Amino acid sequence: MKGKGTREKGKGKTRISASPDGLPGVDRYIPSPNHDARPAGVAVELLVIHHISLPPGRFGGPGIVELFTNRLDPAAHPFYAAIADMKVSAHFLVRRDGELIQFVPCAKRAWHAGESSWKGRTRCNDFSVGVELEGTGEIPYTRAQYQRLVQLTRALMARFPIADIAGHSDIAPGRKQDPGPSFDWDRYRATLEARAKPRTARPKRT
Ligand SMILES: [Zn+2]
Repeated sequence: MKGKGTREKGKGKTRISASPDGLPGVDRYIPSPNHDARPAGVAVELLVIHHISLPPGRFGGPGIVELFTNRLDPAAHPFYAAIADMKVSAHFLVRRDGELIQFVPCAKRAWHAGESSWKGRTRCNDFSVGVELEGTGEIPYTRAQYQRLVQLTRALMARFPIADIAGHSDIAPGRKQDPGPSFDWDRYRATLEARAKPRTARPKRT
């Protein structure tokens, strides 16, 4: 099923967003059944950054989409038998080439955080949006991934009262390590700040 699509304008061209939320920049919407309703009256206040690669350390294959849509073949790789029955998802996945895939509408609760706590609040899935970066904790993320993640973050912050951005390792310390030491938080935050400035403030390249 494809999203209805919404037109978005930018850089002189009009593209169709696949996002069920109408968020800009979403390339594909692949609905995951692994979600449910957020508790009534709970807003999206936290963005959680993760990493995933399937098989571990390999990029570009169908494993992540298959896992999030309950279609992972347990026999396809030795690692898959242990995870094929897991009912998990995230709202978004940013692939190595910057492709942005959405799996769960932001109004719904995706199942990405597990047992977790942030500033004294438990059950982070209730009030967060989960973004997976295709990667490992060791291999540097790509320039395209930082660019797309920043674009997505800005779109989400414009839409929801997001007060904090955290790694999975921050909300489940000791249990989770992602997005890992290879995620450059300074670069991410600096890019986020830079792009928040008016366009006219940016010097022209010569
Ligand atoms: Zn994670």
